[in-house]
Amino acid sequence: MGKPTGFIEYQRELPESRSPLERVRDWREFHTHLSAQKLKTQAGRCMDCGVPFCHTGTLISGMASGCPINNLIPEWNDLVYRGLWKQALERLHKTNNFPEFTGRVCPAPCEGSCVLGIIDPPVAIKTIEQAIADKGFEEGWIVPEPPPQRSGKKVAVVGSGPAGLACAAQLNRAGHQVTVYERADRVGGLLMYGIPNMKLDKAIVQRRVDLLAREGVLFVTNTDIGKGLAATALREKFDAVVLCCGATRPRDLPIEGRNLEGVHFAIEFLHANTRHLLDNNFSSNTVISAKDKHVIVIGGGDTGTDCVGTAMRHQCKSLAQFEIMARPPGARQPDNPWPEWPKVYKLDYGQEEAAARFGDDPRAYLIMTEQFSGNDNGHVRALHTVNVEWIQDGNGRFSPKKIPGSDREWPADLVLLAMGFLGPEDVILDQLAVERDGRSNAKAEEGKYATNIAGVFAAGDMRRGQSLVVWAIHEGRGAARECDRYLMGTTALP
Ligand SMILES: Cc1cc2nc3c(=O)[nH]c(=O)nc-3n(C[C@H](O)[C@H](O)[C@H](O)COP(=O)(O)OP(=O)(O)OC[C@H]3O[C@@H](n4cnc5c(N)ncnc54)[C@H](O)[C@@H]3O)c2cc1C
Ligand code: SF4
Repeated sequence: MGKPTGFIEYQRELPESRSPLERVRDWREFHTHLSAQKLKTQAGRCMDCGVPFCHTGTLISGMASGCPINNLIPEWNDLVYRGLWKQALERLHKTNNFPEFTGRVCPAPCEGSCVLGIIDPPVAIKTIEQAIADKGFEEGWIVPEPPPQRSGKKVAVVGSGPAGLACAAQLNRAGHQVTVYERADRVGGLLMYGIPNMKLDKAIVQRRVDLLAREGVLFVTNTDIGKGLAATALREKFDAVVLCCGATRPRDLPIEGRNLEGVHFAIEFLHANTRHLLDNNFSSNTVISAKDKHVIVIGGGDTGTDCVGTAMRHQCKSLAQFEIMARPPGARQPDNPWPEWPKVYKLDYGQEEAAARFGDDPRAYLIMTEQFSGNDNGHVRALHTVNVEWIQDGNGRFSPKKIPGSDREWPADLVLLAMGFLGPEDVILDQLAVERDGRSNAKAEEGKYATNIAGVFAAGDMRRGQSLVVWAIHEGRGAARECDRYLMGTTALP
């Protein structure tokens, strides 16, 4: 424990993000770092609890409590406090292949279950994690570490999101020759083409991919398994196959006017935007532009926030974001006690930018879209909504009920549907005859990751359903461990 009285003496402090009105003028990351002295102070707030809930990584009420990859948080806090940054990095890499990603994008369930959080603001765990990872790269401590010997076994990983990358990293470490197949033109899954550059710089994703390549992982892009190359062919060519294809089917809103021009899935908008940024730095028009448009984002969550932040950078004319649920309370409620994930109101980066430009949080709560209407050219021009209240039926189930007379029309030139994802696509699972669970995900037991087909494993959003980067890393590591056990009869992977 770095400083026994640190939690009494020091207040929580986070690095100031770049100012909203300045950062919407570019695509650079909005994160900044604390000084080394301040990081030491923040690490000194860690109490090194006897039972550190921050690294438990369990599900309570369906939400993560503690770090899903069981990061050894009190240990690296202590090392940072003592200035032993390289050792802190080693501890961090023991459980997390990609701390430079989680340090930027993780919602930090560790902080929700930090014991200090019972009486005071929690330890700034995520900030310290990012600082350790970034310092590791700056100092040149993170270098390729190819395995000392090869096993002679070959594994195909399909999908290069955080689950596929973590799985590949671990299997390669065990000496297997790993080939990662990706249908997009760049590696990274939603790290590359979902989460926008201002939240996670694509050079940071590419840096890790390059490192994995130098460690011996092979990457094959522009290859859609199941269409370009049959999934069954992989089964013949490789000793094992790990499916990490994500939950890529977006939830639709099949109401009147859905087929009008200007109504898009959020992921189409975000993918096209990052692609343009990386291909030609917007020297041509973006495929889907929000510039000078009335933009409406339907749905909250990370995807909705990223649409808001992206539309702000396109210089939209106005922006509204609809949420069918009620606005969360400002503080934990009695039915949401510590160490559960705190379900509280939060102004995320996109909403903060919209508020700075337009004067208010763009989110409207308890609102339901009933219809899109268009102009003579078949382009969306307005959206029609009603307000709702949530009513409980005799079985205890809540459903939204329209409030009479609350109809409203909103001007809209661009509508982005960010209502979540339904599960994986069929083709590859059907070709391999992999069973599904009740939610249409690839069926494989938690902790085992083996599907009903021998030698075929599934991990990440494809198995778990739409989730988080940190869970994808957890699943990719677990699937690698079980795949290694299948190949070798035993495993030393964690
Ligand atoms: C817009 C957006 C923002 C998000 N922001 C955050 C955030 O801030 N923090 C957070 O923790 N989580 C966030 N998430 C969730 C997080 O990104 C996902 O949970 C995570 O990426 C899942 O990882 P994965 O590896 O399972 O799948 P993915 O990242 O979806 O990767 C799957 C990959 O498989 C490829 N693929 C699919 N089928 C095939 C095939 N047949 N052949 C070849 N390749 C194939 C896809 O092209 C894709 O690249 C966000 C999600 C979205 C959509
Ligand atoms: S990965 Fe997420 S939950 Fe784990 S320590 Fe980092 S911020 Fe916390």
